[in-house]
Amino acid sequence: MGQRIEAKAGLERIKLYKGGESRIPGRDDVLKLSSNENPFGAPESAKAALVAAAKTLHRYPSTDHASLRAAIAEVHGLDAERIICGVGSDEIITFLCQAYTGPGTEVIHTEHGFSMYRISALAAGAEPVEVPERERKVDVDAILGGVTERTRLVFVANPANPTGTMIGANEVGRLAAELPPDVILVLDGAYAEYVDGYDGGAALVDARENVVMTRTFSKLYGLGGLRIGWGYGPAHIIDNLNRVRGPFNLSDAQLAAAEAAIRDRDWAERGRLQNARMRDWLAQALAELGIPSDTSSANFVLARFVDEDEAEACEAALRADGILVRKVAGYKLPNCLRIAVGTEADCGRVRDSLTRWRDAA
Ligand SMILES: *Cc1c(COP(=O)(O)O)cnc(C)c1O
Repeated sequence: MGQRIEAKAGLERIKLYKGGESRIPGRDDVLKLSSNENPFGAPESAKAALVAAAKTLHRYPSTDHASLRAAIAEVHGLDAERIICGVGSDEIITFLCQAYTGPGTEVIHTEHGFSMYRISALAAGAEPVEVPERERKVDVDAILGGVTERTRLVFVANPANPTGTMIGANEVGRLAAELPPDVILVLDGAYAEYVDGYDGGAALVDARENVVMTRTFSKLYGLGGLRIGWGYGPAHIIDNLNRVRGPFNLSDAQLAAAEAAIRDRDWAERGRLQNARMRDWLAQALAELGIPSDTSSANFVLARFVDEDEAEACEAALRADGILVRKVAGYKLPNCLRIAVGTEADCGRVRDSLTRWRDAA
């Protein structure tokens, strides 16, 4: 018998990430509201850029992503030198854990926080530390209370997924200021584009040495399938993240599509307005059926039920009507379902299905 080959400690504790379901066997009318995707798809501008990129598929891509970084910097008023692009914002999260954590260190995430924080921490050999939220909202004092001399990173999504809740700029600023100076606060802005006038924490990044912001093209820009995200941080941190980044992590096709999408300001503005209108409509429709939800700042609503049984029954009823939503028991929210905001027709279909379910009960 040979020696057993051991992987590094911690990997055995990783529960594989499960994406939102997309198929129901035997149905061709499935409405997928399980992954917070843009209901209108990707912008035509991005599709055209992707097709044009086919001409140079034999060429290795840009290693510095200069053109996309310049576009992001221009649109958001940022310093292009302190932007890093990755394979989804997931990869920026991975870079942060790789560069700043390892065995003997801790990574803080909150009770209902996005599962990639825990996965990336464990993959880097670090210890994920969960701190409580207060009524499905990030609690700054609980985070500060969870800090030890081993803490290296704190992940906070604002707006958060799967709760959709947000904490104010004062609270975020207080957290950044009260963390020890050697702890990096990562503000995950995957849903920042949906909040009118919100910079995702960019000004705080500029003002401090220990704050990093992550953003994505997967949500408002409708490019989840293409895998592009970015981060913005102090020069010393971005420099380290670039050292662990693969030189060819993004293809020119990805870079070109993302650049076209972010320069398509009409698309972004229409998407934000449409989402806000239908999100309010959906939350109101749920409320009229006796299903409460917290005020959402993102592109989904977290519907709350009496208990897990009722949430499961509702999920099954929606599924029977071809509608897939997200169960979030794995996020310690067993009595909730996360429903992405769709088009007007999509939202109407959800309401009709829920109305039939309520009437049958
Ligand atoms: C969807 C989402 C992301 C985006 O991930 P990508 O890798 O950019 O697709 C990041 N953080 C949170 C909290 C999300 O919900």
